[in-house]
Amino acid sequence: MDRTFSIVKPDGVKKNLIGEVIGRFERQGLTISALKMLHLTKKEAEGFYAVHKARPFYDSLTTFMSEGPIVAMLITGNKAIEKVRELMGATNFKDAAPGTIRADFASDIEHNIVHGSDSPESAEFEISYFFSALEQF
Ligand code: UDP
Ligand code: MG
Repeated sequence: MDRTFSIVKPDGVKKNLIGEVIGRFERQGLTISALKMLHLTKKEAEGFYAVHKARPFYDSLTTFMSEGPIVAMLITGNKAIEKVRELMGATNFKDAAPGTIRADFASDIEHNIVHGSDSPESAEFEISYFFSALEQF
């Protein structure tokens, strides 16, 4: 079974989209195998997005990701990474396919509701950043 990691970002939580996002994943046949709500510090957000440290949007992104609670989840299922990325839509909501989460709900390129891992390696890093072995089902 493939594993991926997703976040309902602070804007998604504020817009009451937790159930909407999880529902879309579950209706696609994916399983929620770990779940928690938490409020990241700026430092914790910087650690999560360390791969983007050199990018011009890093400071703004990590401030946004630490400005309110998020919902973190481990998702399992066949082709989990690809399915979640497809349901999310392109990073920039203006390029996201109709019917995707970002096309339906994002307000700008940064405030795009949802995160999803882009490779098996990043998925494993992200899962273990948030969940201990005992929290993974
Ligand atoms: N982001 C941004 N400006 C950009 C590109 C990305 O603010 O020009 C933000 C956006 O919230 C995005 C996150 O940084 O989701 C991580 O960027 P990435 O390229 O990994 O996009 P994703 O994998 O989330 O589609
Ligand atoms: Mg990414």
